[in-house]
Amino acid sequence: MTDPARPLADRVAIVTGGTRGIGLAIAKRLTAAGAKVTVCGRSEPETPLPDGIRFEACDVRDFEAVQEFVSNVAKRDGRLDILVNNAGGSPEADAATASPRFSNLIIGLNLMAPIYMSQAAHPHMQAHGGSIINIASVSAIRPSPGTSVYAAAKAGLLGLSRSLAHEWGPTIRMNTIIVGYIETENTEATYGSVEVQQNIASNIGLNRLGKANEIAEAVLFLSSDAASYVTGAELAVHGGGERPPFLDLVKAANA
Ligand code: NDP
Repeated sequence: MTDPARPLADRVAIVTGGTRGIGLAIAKRLTAAGAKVTVCGRSEPETPLPDGIRFEACDVRDFEAVQEFVSNVAKRDGRLDILVNNAGGSPEADAATASPRFSNLIIGLNLMAPIYMSQAAHPHMQAHGGSIINIASVSAIRPSPGTSVYAAAKAGLLGLSRSLAHEWGPTIRMNTIIVGYIETENTEATYGSVEVQQNIASNIGLNRLGKANEIAEAVLFLSSDAASYVTGAELAVHGGGERPPFLDLVKAANA
């Protein structure tokens, strides 16, 4: 019988970009649930990873490097059950003048890399089953001026998951998490001062930013047998999302 505290006992997992931020929280949660976890990033983390989490360098935009990385993990650990496509992000850029190189890099990291990783995982999962989880963003479902290419790439993950859930089902499940504003080591750089963060939070249903471990709990659910009938789905972990600004504008105009 499965130990409820270790629902992923004996499962093997990869978390891309698991050296810090949300990815590290996911890697820790999957490890605590019993999985053997390997994370990748372009460079080795500055502080050592917690016990039980292995690191292998891999630039997920590089198709050949991805093939080698995934096959190394499957060979070493004997199987592959869970893939979390978490590495991602984008600086702001003016879409009118962004260079093709810039746009290619953003699409490469946020859309092509999950495709490469999923393709590399497919042969290791198709016989005994597996779960692939893509980390998207609220940018995929609402306008994101300033990071339009990132928004397009993250929206692409929704279409990818819905389609591959059928193409690779019933053995492989694929789902997407729509991530809201999450506190990480980079919160100030991404969302500004504490005061700005409080203003952002006041517009969110749950009146606060999310925590990385709250994304990790959703990943654990989608990875586990508790989600055995969940595929092609989008799970929004965004605290209820943002209140539309027009409501306050109308209220102010009528005051
Ligand atoms: P961070 O910037 O804190 O961490 C990114 C991770 O990805 C690092 O481990 C980094 O390691 C790795 N990485 C970046 N580029 C590559 C690459 N080419 N190949 C391999 N690894 C790479 O990210 P967050 O934790 O903030 O975000 C994680 C995910 O959540 C992203 O997909 C992001 O889009 C999404 N998200 C985050 C939100 C937030 O509020 N933080 C909001 C909505 C979505 P290295 O630099 O060594 O390569």
